[in-house]
Amino acid sequence: VLITAAPVFGPQGEPRGVVVTGQDLTTRHELERLREEYVSLISHDLRNPLQGITLRASLLTHALKERGMAREEALTEAILRNVAWMKSMIEELLEGSRLESRGVELRREPTDVVRFLEGVLERDVPPDLRERFLLEVATPAPLAWVDAARLERVLTNLLGNAAKYSPAGRPIHVRVSTSPEDHVVVAIRDEGPGLAREDAEHVFDKYFRTRQGSASDTQGLGLGLYISRLIIEAHGGRIWVESEPGQGSTFCFSLPTTPQGPEPHPPEEEMG
Ligand code: ADP
Repeated sequence: VLITAAPVFGPQGEPRGVVVTGQDLTTRHELERLREEYVSLISHDLRNPLQGITLRASLLTHALKERGMAREEALTEAILRNVAWMKSMIEELLEGSRLESRGVELRREPTDVVRFLEGVLERDVPPDLRERFLLEVATPAPLAWVDAARLERVLTNLLGNAAKYSPAGRPIHVRVSTSPEDHVVVAIRDEGPGLAREDAEHVFDKYFRTRQGSASDTQGLGLGLYISRLIIEAHGGRIWVESEPGQGSTFCFSLPTTPQGPEPHPPEEEMG
């Protein structure tokens, strides 16, 4: 039960009493659980037919190419792109609900974040976009204690957003530095529309998209930053954004250089 209390004041501002409310949260939690279960079931069920569509559209594209039917081939390629986008949304939905229900399991090892970033830019950023990303190393950063696959997920999301929400061709600065607490800090600065204060407070919330983001052509579910937050916080780090409307945004996160945060695998209980 959630108990909230609020003071009541009289016309002269003198205290008159307190209103206490009790709210039964059982139904709310149960609804939340059902919704998660529903998302997970639907996502699983959508995967197979999409796999079938991808296979057939690929075969069709191949056949059209052989017959030199370029216009029709462009259509099947558009189908493939749309299906790929649907698949990535489903993966995101599934990942979100998996991380929530099972928590973030981490396999951490000491990692050179600068080299890791170079690898991500090489592997995950299409060659025509790569030159927009300018990597700057402020100080030689100590090794961060991270789960590589999870960190890659966070970086592809933040780098992808910076490219997605800022004007084509404009540079994106990726800076690695060390915080006073000796955490490794990565800051990704873009020249996009920036964020109003009230939006900046919510961008890491589940399913949150700014009005501008939803109205533009950019597609998304509003789950990427939420998933990134779960991952960074599980590492014992912090994620935040510094931004002003019209001034671009800088998305930052910090990573500890020693194992911190919730232990991924609780020590096994002693037998006997
Ligand atoms: P998605 O991009 O799939 O909508 P995210 O969780 O990655 O979801 O981002 C949430 C919202 O935050 C976006 O819809 C957009 O409105 C806003 N946002 C994220 N990154 C940026 C950015 N670099 N510049 C401006 N707005 C951003």
